[in-house]
Amino acid sequence: MRLRVLVLGAGFGGLELSALLSEKLGDDLDLTLIDQNDSFYFGYSKFDVMFGHKTSDDIRLYYRNIVKPGVTFKQETITSIDPLNRKVTTRFSTYEADVLVIALGADYDLAATPGLAEGGNEFYTLAGAERLREVLPAFSKGRIIVGVTSAPFKCPPAPSEAALLMHDYLLKRGIRDDCEISLVMPFGLPIPPSSDTSKALLKAFAERNIQFIPKKVVRSIDAAHHVALLDDGTEMPFELFLGIPKHRVPTVVEQSGMVVNGWIPVDKTNLKTKFPNVYAIGDVNGVGTPKAGVFAEGAAKVVAESIIASFERRDQPDAYKGDGTCYIEFGGGRVGKVNVDFFSGPAPSGTYTEASPELVADKEYFGSSRKARWFGL
Ligand SMILES: Cc1cc2nc3c(=O)[nH]c(=O)nc-3n(C[C@H](O)[C@H](O)[C@H](O)COP(=O)(O)OP(=O)(O)OC[C@H]3O[C@@H](n4cnc5c(N)ncnc54)[C@H](O)[C@@H]3O)c2cc1C
Repeated sequence: MRLRVLVLGAGFGGLELSALLSEKLGDDLDLTLIDQNDSFYFGYSKFDVMFGHKTSDDIRLYYRNIVKPGVTFKQETITSIDPLNRKVTTRFSTYEADVLVIALGADYDLAATPGLAEGGNEFYTLAGAERLREVLPAFSKGRIIVGVTSAPFKCPPAPSEAALLMHDYLLKRGIRDDCEISLVMPFGLPIPPSSDTSKALLKAFAERNIQFIPKKVVRSIDAAHHVALLDDGTEMPFELFLGIPKHRVPTVVEQSGMVVNGWIPVDKTNLKTKFPNVYAIGDVNGVGTPKAGVFAEGAAKVVAESIIASFERRDQPDAYKGDGTCYIEFGGGRVGKVNVDFFSGPAPSGTYTEASPELVADKEYFGSSRKARWFGL
């Protein structure tokens, strides 16, 4: 009997899980991978689009290229999930499986920050990055705020990267001295688990005259007067606002009855939900690691091993460590790296590798190796 697996969402987590199960189980696998989109793109590619280095077409990796034993991709929008019966409905069909994996990521709730949609911009969606690509060339002077509106948010280094890359962009256009850049963050440090990474980022901000405003979030935007209101009542006037919107689970996940305190609870050792043979990986769960692709990928590895062990009636794998390596754009053609481990020790810890031009190639390899592995490109 082939193992029937349903993977909901073909992002970092869903793609890695499908690749691993196909590799290990081959023809013993009957896996259906469902996503509403026709293509995947790396989160960090949005910077390339926003600053005009690449077009949206350049960054898209089409799911039609997936040719893997035992894997069928369906481009369909999921409209309901019944975790008890491992039954999923889409706009076109109904699916049932022996194992269900929810990897639907996080959506955004722009309306949770009054005025953001009317008076601000965002670069967390591809559409937002595309809009900024049009907005930025028309901007020539004034105050820029990169502002986080709530936690948790995807890729904790991304707001810092946006501020540093903005500095480079303005410098290249010869207008840096006519602009101010501020970064509003809910944390005390840019990367809380790694003081070395945080120190390096704070130094980079200081060298570039970027104002770091810790332990605050942007509550609302006065779109008419171009003012951001912080949670402590501070008013920050701006000419350009780049917001990181509040994150939430996709509506179909909310309606599945699986969500507690905003996210799907899982056993942090194996990513199992309370429903038999149902796992949740990546941004959609509340496991406590940062919402980043590398953590979704790490979770997929543990879940693949767990699914295979159950299928082959072997012992379950070692516990999930909650670890991953994040590359950080420092601008000026340099990339830094932090290895973070959330669950192995008594507290989360991180090891920093100094930003360098060599790590730019490492990051490129990170992308190209996934492109080859997941899409055969
Ligand atoms: C600007 C920016 C920079 C980033 N940089 C990095 C980085 O350098 N490194 C890193 O590791 N992470 C980075 N990230 C974060 C990373 O992109 C996400 O954390 C990662 O994609 C999460 O993976 P996932 O599999 O949980 O979900 P996703 O990759 O978001 O995939 C979820 C999938 O579910 C699909 N879906 C949702 N609802 C439905 C539905 N109803 N029906 C069908 N399909 C549906 C979506 O279309 C999507 O394809 C960045 C993010 C941003 C915004």
